Amino acid sequence: MPSAGDAVTIHTLRGFRDLLPPESSLFTRIEAAARDVFSLYGYQELRIPTIELKELFVKSTGDTTDIVEKEMYAFTDGGGREVAVRPEGTPGVVRAYIENNLGQTGRNGKYFYIGNMFRAERPQAGRYREFTQIGAEHIGNASPFADAETITMLVRLLEKAGVGGCSVVLNSLGCAECRKTYREILLEYLRLNIAGLCEPCKGRIERNPLRALDCKTDGPALAEKAPKLFLCPACAEHFARTQELLKISKVEHQVNTSLVRGLDYYTSTVFEVRSSALGSQDAVCGGGRYDDLVKSMGGPASPAIGWAVGVDRLAMLLKDKARMESPSAFVIAASDGARTAAFGLLGELRAAGISADFSNFELSLKSQMRSADRSGAAVALILGEDEIKNATCAVKTLKEKADQRTVPMTELLTEVKRIIS
Ligand code: ATP
Ligand code: MG
Repeated sequence: MPSAGDAVTIHTLRGFRDLLPPESSLFTRIEAAARDVFSLYGYQELRIPTIELKELFVKSTGDTTDIVEKEMYAFTDGGGREVAVRPEGTPGVVRAYIENNLGQTGRNGKYFYIGNMFRAERPQAGRYREFTQIGAEHIGNASPFADAETITMLVRLLEKAGVGGCSVVLNSLGCAECRKTYREILLEYLRLNIAGLCEPCKGRIERNPLRALDCKTDGPALAEKAPKLFLCPACAEHFARTQELLKISKVEHQVNTSLVRGLDYYTSTVFEVRSSALGSQDAVCGGGRYDDLVKSMGGPASPAIGWAVGVDRLAMLLKDKARMESPSAFVIAASDGARTAAFGLLGELRAAGISADFSNFELSLKSQMRSADRSGAAVALILGEDEIKNATCAVKTLKEKADQRTVPMTELLTEVKRIIS
């Protein structure tokens, strides 16, 4: 055991990571693009807690899902409550919607969230134990216009964030009625073919036969051979209309009848966005309708649709665009007597909306110049004894390696703006 005074190097936990600049700037950029798009579509932000009662996820996400069965960070808190760190956002949004009677506010029922999620899965490229999701939920609208709008918004968000090369894959899981009939047919098929299933599926087909179609081991083969879901006329009409509206929005998509999504609450339209540039973790977004969830969680009957984008995977797609931030101006004090004025100049620049930085006014001119070069700033502003005496500033354009010029203080801000524009 190290004693209290020993220095111990502590590392991040497996699957957790530090997001460093410039990669962190990609997250900021993606989130800013998302906020712009959400505001165009009338979505408002909900900030939900990171920790909730475990029961919330067990009841909504579903106890036969990977997320709840294997991946949840759940523990008993100091008060003896069974709690969990959120693995996804939808259950918290639905709880908040019900708890705060958001259905009675007369608003449009459109909410977004941005936040970190936690899943104890095997870490690999594009799969972490803490990751960021941007999610959207539209609660209270059953029409295909809501489906088409939300998928269109998602595609516009990806475009705005600069993510290209993605494809939208779409399917319909039908309503509770379609699924009830299908559940029996599929269960019958799975019972007959149980010998070929993986162990976890063998144990859960009676509770959740559909889950086998989404199983990473059994799913692909079953999707080809197992009986297909037939939609009732109303569900078929909803799905056809959704696709027609997506065409009107110029959103390209493909229907894939083997797309079932892993969560219990999905009904009707489900979709994923994938990128071939990502390798094996190719899903950047998953979503769908959850028409029965709000009611089953104790709220008013409220059809709903939503999706969640994985920001970490989008950032991977944009990694070539990661840039270190550089200040526009770099301020240097060339003599002891100029330090206070140099500090004041930093304030004036920033007040004028010009990003400005400095290293350490107490270091040599040479050392401060080196920092200015490394900072990537467009211009160095140097104050020394002469400049203070004459109310001027020495201006050196860094990128062009131009000669230093002397500019009167009264014209400095205008001159800097001219250089950086
Ligand atoms: P996958 O099949 O890749 O496990 P999922 O179906 O579990 O995805 P969702 O629950 O639909 O994923 O979450 C939506 C998005 O969140 C995913 O498309 C992905 O971009 C991202 N995501 C999910 N799990 C992780 C993770 N462990 N690390 C990073 N991103 C993740
Ligand atoms: Mg997963």
